Amino acid sequence: MSFTLPALKYEKSALGFISENTLNFHHGKHLQTYIDTTNKLVTGSNYEGKSLLEIMTTSSGPLFNNAAQSWNHEFYFNCISPETKAPNDKVLALINENFESLDDFKQKFAASAVSNFGSGWTWLVQTGPNKLKIMNTSNAANPIVDGFTPILVVDVWEHAYYLDYQNRRADYVKDFLEHIDWDFVASQLRSYE
Ligand code: MN
Repeated sequence: MSFTLPALKYEKSALGFISENTLNFHHGKHLQTYIDTTNKLVTGSNYEGKSLLEIMTTSSGPLFNNAAQSWNHEFYFNCISPETKAPNDKVLALINENFESLDDFKQKFAASAVSNFGSGWTWLVQTGPNKLKIMNTSNAANPIVDGFTPILVVDVWEHAYYLDYQNRRADYVKDFLEHIDWDFVASQLRSYE
């Protein structure tokens, strides 16, 4: 059994802020390569039959990099939507509890993403009951490894936006923030019971 490329839940031409051309490379080539490399590294190892999450939380080096990038990308592609949605009451209440407002959250998230040096990811994570935090990670790193629960991520590797935005990461992040699939975000909330 090997990992396969997860299908996108929207047409590649539908996002608007990210072009079909970018998705052909980002989903069709970059993510495919992370998945293929993960499969190669897992074959014949003790990791055979384990989930991406299990591999990501117990491996290091090239296997960690490729498994985490596979996991991070599937999560990222699920975080975006062709539609401009709004957070549901539960998510909005959490955001208002942890930030001054939804706009304040967006400003802080954008500032964090723009200042994330080099290649990496900017996350909104749950760190406890009713506690949210914006976190930057570098390269393939994922907050689950540190015990946090990701509920949103933006990919700030240049391959995510360079064909459409060139060096304008701030514009990419601003547009990303208007294309969040807030239903997916809500589905990722963990209950601490
Ligand atoms: Mn990427």
